[in-house]
Amino acid sequence: MRVGCPKEIKNHEYRVGLTPGAVREYVAHGHDVIIETGAGSGIGADDDAYRAAGARIVASASDIFQKSDMVVKVKEPQPDEWTQLRDGQILYTYLHLAPDPEQTRGLLESGVTAIAYETVTDDRGGLPLLAPMSEVAGRLSIQAGATALQKANGGRGVLLGGVPGVLPAKVAIIGGGVVGLHAARMAAGLGADVAILDRSIPRLRQLDDLFGGRVHTRYSTIDALEEEVFAADLVIGAVLIPGAAAPKLVTREMLSGMKKGAVIVDVAIDQGGCFETSHATTHSDPTFEVDGVVHYCVANMPGAVPVTSAHALNNATLHYGLQLANKGLKAIAEDRHLRAGLNVHRGRVTNGPVADALGYES
Ligand code: NAD
Repeated sequence: MRVGCPKEIKNHEYRVGLTPGAVREYVAHGHDVIIETGAGSGIGADDDAYRAAGARIVASASDIFQKSDMVVKVKEPQPDEWTQLRDGQILYTYLHLAPDPEQTRGLLESGVTAIAYETVTDDRGGLPLLAPMSEVAGRLSIQAGATALQKANGGRGVLLGGVPGVLPAKVAIIGGGVVGLHAARMAAGLGADVAILDRSIPRLRQLDDLFGGRVHTRYSTIDALEEEVFAADLVIGAVLIPGAAAPKLVTREMLSGMKKGAVIVDVAIDQGGCFETSHATTHSDPTFEVDGVVHYCVANMPGAVPVTSAHALNNATLHYGLQLANKGLKAIAEDRHLRAGLNVHRGRVTNGPVADALGYES
């Protein structure tokens, strides 16, 4: 199969759908890989690195869309891209169609078969192609929080780990899933005093086991939440109720009980955020202040570290990408987890929740 990868064109998107390492795997499986010139520049991979991996470099995105049997990307196609997709072609990328009727119409009209990374499943009920970005965001949340806590950045001026003779900062992590676990790892690693709140007792047990008492776990009642949030220097919002907007667990009223200069990192902002006072921000202007509390609410946190993120994403997407390239549509018929990723096929919306959200029949 001919597999093509264009340069991402969404604003401030520096990741790439295929790293040179991934290209080498496709080529080793006998596929013909074409890459748009400069596609890897955001992660420091130049055209020669792709040539060395066995790809051919083409001059424009339209070469990729015209000549590929399968297009591999990172972000959902932009209008200029979806108009170039065609019947019988496979598109393999993040799509996030539910809130995006315009893109959905574009994909339906193109006749493409579109697999969305974010709805591919695994045996444990997880979303394996979404998890690596949660890992990145979780780890990054502590770096972002530590920076925002510095006095010159509007924070309280505390060091997460303290120093000998001075107490460390308190970090409260609301939601102990993938983001929460990785935030806790970083915070505990830096020597902070960490508490994780979650509504799942089995998950709290697992976290307690994993950290061996190094972090505290608490069942997330209003009482426990208030106590931890009021005591915290840094609060990480990491809850997810699949398919729903994030619950507003920290109200504006609660901010008055927090320390002045405390920092909130609302990782769940891509689902609307779990702080009433959150609104989405960008990497170029990531924070704002409400009632003396610094808010960091960047909706695409992994974009800050595209090298790490692109490699983590490629690690996760390679397996199913190769199945699609090797077997074509048969790969979807044979694997229910990949089938869960199928969102659009030849003019039909094929994913139940997406169809429900947009009023299509699946
Ligand atoms: P996850 O499903 O692994 O974990 C969510 C956790 O929240 C679960 O353990 C669940 O039990 C817990 N939870 C649900 N309701 C709760 C409540 N009331 N109180 C406490 N805990 C509760 O999800 P995840 O992969 O960790 O993602 C978390 C959020 O981060 C999602 O909204 C995701 O979209 C977002 N995210 C954002 C970025 C970004 O760049 N901003 C990047 C990656 C992920």
